[in-house]
Amino acid sequence: MSFRLLSIARKQQKRSASGFSRPVVRTSPRLHFSSLAAPAQPWLVDQAYQHFRNGEFVASKGSPAYTVRNPATQETIGIVPEMTTQEFDDTVALANEAFHHWKLVPIQQRQRVMLKFQQAIRENIDDLAYLITLENGKTLADARGDVFRGLEMVESACFMAPQMLGDSLQGISSDMDCVSYREPLGVVASLNPFNFPAMCPLWSLGLCTTAGNSILIKPSEKTPGAALMLAQLAKESGLPDGVLQVVHGGKRTVENICTHRDIRAISFVGSSQAGEHIYNLGSQYGKRVQANMGAKNHAVILEDSNRAQVVKAVVGAAFGAAGQRCMALSTVIFVGTTKEWIHDIAEEAKKLKVGSGFDSSADVGPLISPESKDRVESIISEAVNEGATLTLDGRGYTVEGYSNGNFVGPTILSNVKTGNVCYTEEFFGPVLVCLEAESLDDAMTIVNQNPYGNGCAIFTGSGAAARKFTAGVDVGQVGVNVPIPVPLPMFSFTGSRGSFLGSLNFYGYSGIQFYTKLKTVTSNWPMESASLGGVAMPTFGSGGK
Ligand code: NAD
Repeated sequence: MSFRLLSIARKQQKRSASGFSRPVVRTSPRLHFSSLAAPAQPWLVDQAYQHFRNGEFVASKGSPAYTVRNPATQETIGIVPEMTTQEFDDTVALANEAFHHWKLVPIQQRQRVMLKFQQAIRENIDDLAYLITLENGKTLADARGDVFRGLEMVESACFMAPQMLGDSLQGISSDMDCVSYREPLGVVASLNPFNFPAMCPLWSLGLCTTAGNSILIKPSEKTPGAALMLAQLAKESGLPDGVLQVVHGGKRTVENICTHRDIRAISFVGSSQAGEHIYNLGSQYGKRVQANMGAKNHAVILEDSNRAQVVKAVVGAAFGAAGQRCMALSTVIFVGTTKEWIHDIAEEAKKLKVGSGFDSSADVGPLISPESKDRVESIISEAVNEGATLTLDGRGYTVEGYSNGNFVGPTILSNVKTGNVCYTEEFFGPVLVCLEAESLDDAMTIVNQNPYGNGCAIFTGSGAAARKFTAGVDVGQVGVNVPIPVPLPMFSFTGSRGSFLGSLNFYGYSGIQFYTKLKTVTSNWPMESASLGGVAMPTFGSGGK
């Protein structure tokens, strides 16, 4: 039974239990989620995650390699295999075969599959969110946002034919015309991080397959469930078998992806360490690679900004999703007297409730793993040793009923210097690092000297200051009084410098260019029968005459 049918069955059960059908009043996501039950997980057999190969869930012959645990409890959800090289080669061969049929399907029909797919995601958004919270730990409201941002990407693929148009020029010589076509590449791999289990695969899936490619998705070995459910939904929406495969594994599977002859391109999202390696290895093997990587996003606060607005924006953007967002606002530069606002930010942060993502009143969920929690806490301790002030300490946080959870409470480090480890390292936890600057120029120098270039924001009431900032910072995504400026699907995700490797960005027109190559066709159709006598020796132009 499809997930959609399962959810309808569950709703019907609820109705018949009460004897009548009541309209669902969704006053807030929290109320809505409080009645959710676990969805069916046909990809988990005897606690082993299955691959999705040629439209079926199949057991791996590879060895069990990674344990997926609920970050709030440490309960084992399942074991992820590292697929064997033979399995991998077979899967790529199937994907390649599917590609040769799929690329011939008219684009209108490929778009129609996406129309059904976006509807299927919409109908199953609660089940997808449930799986994300179970494996990743983020709150259900955040998990729903994770799916929704991916859903928007699929919606954008439903009408992408105009962006697949090439160019044409009539009469480039006598009786000659030239056209260019945008053609798919072949088999494309999508490598994903743990922190957006639905959104990141969906950054690629819709555009890549609607452009005519087949895709091999490797979810994070920490959060594989959402990608598997998406694969099932795509199949039910009419995506032919083999066009989408989900493979599991870690480093070895990634090496196979980077070196396999029939994989034409790699879309990677994850840490800088893995991204640089994958970019270099994939490029060495002749593949197109785009790599979205780590970040350290700064907010610059000017004295003419709205204090209350700034406090709320910073708290939400720094601690939401427990700071495990690549666009989290993890660093604030207070200009002039705004350093006094740290106190307000700390007071607001104290109001956040830390707890299980399934607790409808929780604002901040657990970190992904005990190792991640230890790492974040040890960098906080090191920061204190280096002279930072611990304005708010979230170490050793316990949540009643969840003694094994990987919880870290909101933490604020102030008086931080740019040489401190807490500034140079990406935390990926609920920690706000606070620096001070005398002027906007000084703040911009700090932003530009940081090696990352994913996102940043300025808070100000001055258009001139905002303009100076947006023009002067060497960062790919800039918010003006907007704390997390993630671009919508009609734009592209434009991280830069240390946060991105490649020449074409994820999604938007740039994404379509990444998943296609140009072919130009030059045709000669003489309108009057030409003399066929002699040899027409081609030359490169007429020497300017
Ligand atoms: P990660 O790099 O550990 O994992 C990402 C993927 O790479 C996974 O599929 C993993 O299996 C694989 N991988 C990991 N190490 C590898 C290695 N040594 N060799 C080959 N493959 C390897 O990242 P993560 O911890 O899952 O995600 C968090 C990171 O992702 C953060 O740094 C965050 O900033 C970044 N991120 C960036 C963006 C962006 O758009 N810039 C978006 C989300 C997350």
